[in-house]
Amino acid sequence: MTATTGTLYIVSAPSGAGKTSLVKALIDAVPRIRVSVSHTTRAMRPGEADGVNYHFVSREEFTAMIQRGDFLEHAQVFDNFYGTSQRWLEQTLAEGIDLILEIDWQGAQQVRKLMPQAKSIFILPPTQDALRHRLTNRGQDSGEIIERRMREAVSEMSHYVEYDYLVINDDFAHALDDLKAIFHANQLLQATQQQRHAGLLTDLLA
Ligand code: 5GP
Repeated sequence: MTATTGTLYIVSAPSGAGKTSLVKALIDAVPRIRVSVSHTTRAMRPGEADGVNYHFVSREEFTAMIQRGDFLEHAQVFDNFYGTSQRWLEQTLAEGIDLILEIDWQGAQQVRKLMPQAKSIFILPPTQDALRHRLTNRGQDSGEIIERRMREAVSEMSHYVEYDYLVINDDFAHALDDLKAIFHANQLLQATQQQRHAGLLTDLLA
């Protein structure tokens, strides 16, 4: 694998925890960070666009990508397939840009094995009731589907122990501050600062 200079972040959360909105706000606020656009076989939702939220592909295309070895990781999440393209990820990190993967716990496990230096963050809702409320407020689904989503959310949340950081999304602004703090602290790590400020360090030690 190519030597990398950007930091790779994994962000996971159960559906309804506010992950996508938080990550979007983070990207808008912090320089030198991008979010990876995954490939998926699921249908496009209202308001989504191909190439922006996901690359929407057929099952046949997805299977061909697996066979070509295009994915760094891929997983079946509920009824659909999702995967992270390896080439774009390596190119972006090699440019020194930090990258966020919004993936589930199965993908997170695969990425940690391949790239143990990746930092992982799990976003939790403040209560089960709040989560149910957020899933209901989307207004698109029946009670049965919402209860199924709740079970799936609990199953996803049971993996929180595998992550480096936990953020509780009780208040959006507060959760965003927590995320910014994680990214800022990581950008100050000695190894990262050494790369960014090589010239300064050489001068200081002359
Ligand atoms: P949704 O269909 O609601 O956008 O996403 C469903 C789940 O799939 C979320 O937990 C999301 O993090 C996960 N997911 C999205 N893209 C990927 C990916 O590329 N790989 C993996 N493993 N999971 C993904």
